[in-house]
Amino acid sequence: MEVSYGVLKQQLEAQRTRLQEEIKQFRITGRDNLGYGNHQADDATDAFEQAKELSLLQNSERVLAQVETALARFEADTYGICERCREPIDPARLKALPYATLCLDCQQRAEQA
Ligand SMILES: [Zn+2]
Repeated sequence: MEVSYGVLKQQLEAQRTRLQEEIKQFRITGRDNLGYGNHQADDATDAFEQAKELSLLQNSERVLAQVETALARFEADTYGICERCREPIDPARLKALPYATLCLDCQQRAEQA
């Protein structure tokens, strides 16, 4: 299966922009919700919503870090190479998960460890 790294790079750059925007928006609205003057801070629903949003934010930040690592790997010319075994990562896997840094074998081993 052929996959163009150039296309993957464009996808990663688009994803990075989208995530940065998302995180920025959260920071703006999050400050309003979490900041001073919130008289409903004790409300269980609010706390639940805030926890949910926070976990979404943390997820976005984690993915953004992975996307940035992947983009750095383009610069270093190591994109598409498994970080552990130095074998090329299956193009089908990269297409599904452009910021993967491990081949499927190594990923499964990492998850078991
Ligand atoms: Zn590997």
